[in-house]
Order: sequence, then C-alpha cells, then structure tokens
Amino acid sequence: MKNYDKITSLFKRKGYVWGPSPEIYEGGVAGFYDLGPLGAMLFNNIENTVRAVYFENNYYEIKAPLIMPSKVWEASGHLGGFTDPLTKCTKCGAVFRVDKLIKELHPKEIVDGLTYKEYDKKIEDLSIKCASCKGPLSKTVPQDMMLKTTIGLDEEAYLRPETATTTYLQFKRYYEFFRNKLPFGVYQIGTAFRNEISPRNGLIRKREFTQAEAQLFIFKSDKNKYSEFKDFEKIKLPLLTWKEQDKKGKPKKTSLKEAIKGKIIQNKAYAVSLAVGYQIAMELGLDEKRLRYRQHYPNERAFYALDAWDLEYKTDSFGWVEICGVHDRSDYDLKQHAKYSGKDLRVKHGRKKEVPHILEIAAGIERLVFTVLEQAYDEEKRRTVLRLLPSIAPIQLKIFPLVSKDGLPEKAKNVYELMLNEDFFAEYDESGSIGRRYRRADEEGVPFCITIDHDTLEDESVTVRDRDTMKQVRVKINELEDFLEEAIEGDIDF
Ligand SMILES: [Zn+2]
Repeated sequence: MKNYDKITSLFKRKGYVWGPSPEIYEGGVAGFYDLGPLGAMLFNNIENTVRAVYFENNYYEIKAPLIMPSKVWEASGHLGGFTDPLTKCTKCGAVFRVDKLIKELHPKEIVDGLTYKEYDKKIEDLSIKCASCKGPLSKTVPQDMMLKTTIGLDEEAYLRPETATTTYLQFKRYYEFFRNKLPFGVYQIGTAFRNEISPRNGLIRKREFTQAEAQLFIFKSDKNKYSEFKDFEKIKLPLLTWKEQDKKGKPKKTSLKEAIKGKIIQNKAYAVSLAVGYQIAMELGLDEKRLRYRQHYPNERAFYALDAWDLEYKTDSFGWVEICGVHDRSDYDLKQHAKYSGKDLRVKHGRKKEVPHILEIAAGIERLVFTVLEQAYDEEKRRTVLRLLPSIAPIQLKIFPLVSKDGLPEKAKNVYELMLNEDFFAEYDESGSIGRRYRRADEEGVPFCITIDHDTLEDESVTVRDRDTMKQVRVKINELEDFLEEAIEGDIDF
C-alpha cells in the first residue's frame, strides 16, 4: 500500500501537482488544482498519447466552445436532470453527498443508481449521522451540478459539464466533411466543469477537468457489421459483467470474438470502442493486473444508454477509479437536439432517412495523470523513484559533467545542445555530487542520465545510466541519438 500523503508531498515538492488553488488565499478551494512545470509536461504527454490513440483509430479532432446557451443543456438533459444526491446536517448545516457518505462508512454497500427514497432508507437502516457533529441528516435532495454564467447582458448560459454534447451539435458538418458517409468518428479534448458539492480525492474529483471524448456516429443496423472488428477480435479484455458483479465474481479475460459470440458485448462496433479505450491504458504503461472493464448495472446507466462499461484502475489511494467510460448512447442525443433546435438531423441510409447512433469513449486526463503517477511512485532503501514510461516522462534526459572543472562542463554543454537539437527533452545539471544529481533525477522520473567524464575528452564516449536498473553503459557521442531513441521506445535492455 502506497502512502497517499507521501506521494502527494513528493508531487508538490517536485512541481507535479499543487493546490487546492488558489493556495495563497485561505488554502484554496476544493476541487481546483495547479499543475507545476513537470506536471504540465506530463499532462501534455499523456494528452498527446490519448490523441495519438484516437487518431490511429480514425477519429478526427474538433474543438467546440466551453460555454453554451441554456437551450442546449435543456436538450441534452443536463439542465434539471444532472444532479447529485445531497443531504444536510439539521444541526450544524454540513453538507454531504449521500452516495459518497454511505460508501465511505460502508464500503460494501452498493449505492449506484439508487432512488432518493432508497438513499433515505439506507441512511436510516445504517443509522448514518453527520460526519462532523453526529447530528441527524435531512432527506436526500437533488443538487444541480451545472455552473451557470451569463452571455452579454442577460442570456443565461452554462459551462459545459462534458465535451460530448458540444461535439454532437455539428453532426451535419461532419457528415459533409466525411463526404456523406457513415460511420465516422470525431473527438474532442478539453475542459469541462461540474459543481461538485464536496470534492475530495485530489485529481480524481475536480470541479474543472479535462475530458478526451471520442464519438463514433454509426447507423443502428451497421453496429454489428463493423468491418474494423476483424483487426480487434483477438484482443482480450478483463470483462466484469453486471451479473458477475452480483455474484461477487472476478473479471474474466475474454477475447472480443468470444464476447460477441457469448453476447457479453452486444455489437462489434461497441467491442472495438472498448478495445480503443483499453489501448489508452496500455500506451501509458498502466498495469494490466490493476485494470478491469466493469459493466454498469441496468439501473446504473443513463436511461437512454443501451450499454455502458467503465475501464477502472485499482489505485492504492482510493481503490477502483474510473479512468475511461465507454457508452452506447443510442440515437438519444441527436434526436434531442433535432427536437430542441427544430433542425432535421436525419441523413440518408439507403432509401430512407435515419438518425444514427453514437458510441462514445470518454477518458479523463487528470485521472490518467494521477494513476500514472501513483503507479510510478516507488520507494527503495536508498532512493525514491518515479518509474514513468520513458515515452511520457516530462524530462527524458539529464546531462551531467562529472565535476565542474577540467573542461567537463563545456563538453557536457555541447552534448546538451546536441540533444536539444535532436528534440529530446533534456536538462543540464552540474550542482551537487553526482550521487545527489542521480537521486534528484530519479525523484523527477527522468529515465536516462548522461555523464561526461575525463575519458569523454579522449574517446568521445559518455556514460548512460538507466533510472530503473541503475545500470550504466558507455555510448559513443555520435551514436547517442539512435541509442536514446531505442531506449525511450523500451528496446534496450540495460
Ligand atoms: Zn452536523
């Protein structure tokens, strides 16, 4: 079990995550965080990894506004329908999210998808009281999660609670862009806002966060005729059906072919969406043993959704955490927007006109950042080390002169310039003993350190040290670029 306080203090000290923000004003507001220099670089690397996975799978990126008028959110069902179950202490006024409160005190209770009456009954049956003063709690009431704002003088508008809705609105434009042919995919990476009542758990539950949501538009009758499926059918995913959860079962590694045959997954296009979500976790080096795809209970998913599975990662700090959700949203969204906008969003399918279905892959970047960091954190006898994959580490190389004299700094700076020119993220460091410089690099997750010593001046070779094994090899400067490229890909055994 990793110690959450120790991890977060390292992240603070090393410039990964700061907050809550704004820290200098009374300790900040829950649910808001800053990323420091290394955090911002890691964030971008992770975001770009997700971007590459979507693009490789034929999704095209778009960007939409963060603010939309009320009408859009009435249509999407968020306005009025997007609420958290809330309870208030009748004595001290403290406010709690009912589902979280029950789960915290009774981790084995199933709280997803309950009605407000059922929450009230649980509070009574389990004799749950106010967490701060033990006073009695009020009945459960809905709390709106939308953040309101105003456009111009008086037009009511809201900050988007998800990117998905803002992606759907341009369906007709995509249709034209993709030359009037379905299926096609688009994705959006950007900020969304949720006015959570008592956000905790750091980066896992923020009020402002980054979503990477991909949407496949496809006719209903084509969902099970998806030709890409043959490239994916052998992929095995750790599937945990809702029926199996009911029996307290474990996830089963199932090939997509078997899953379709056994009707565990309902159609081929949806199966591919699950595989793409899983690919994100693999590219980031997340541990397969800590991953599972958990199917939503029928009463847990949105009323219009035909199926929903969450890719979850087992953190040491918070247990299972959703990092990516895959949803079959049926034709609900486009039909709603057609109804509220008065525009026809049907397109030609053979001889008739039809509104397509949408299959969504929704990943949360901050959650990926946290799980990647938590997994990377490791304490050894003599050092703390962040074992980040070299492909996403913020700083890939550190370059050290062994000592700050005898012409070594000049030579080291030459190598440093060379590495920058080759587009490596490199840093030059000559302060402190070489041992301390290695420790510092290990804590920052730098995968490779290059040391220039007196021999370098004679033989044009440097020492490359591997963070994970601490092994060192000698490499010619003129072969350094190729060597490091292979090492970053993970193709070199130290
Ligand atoms: Zn109280």
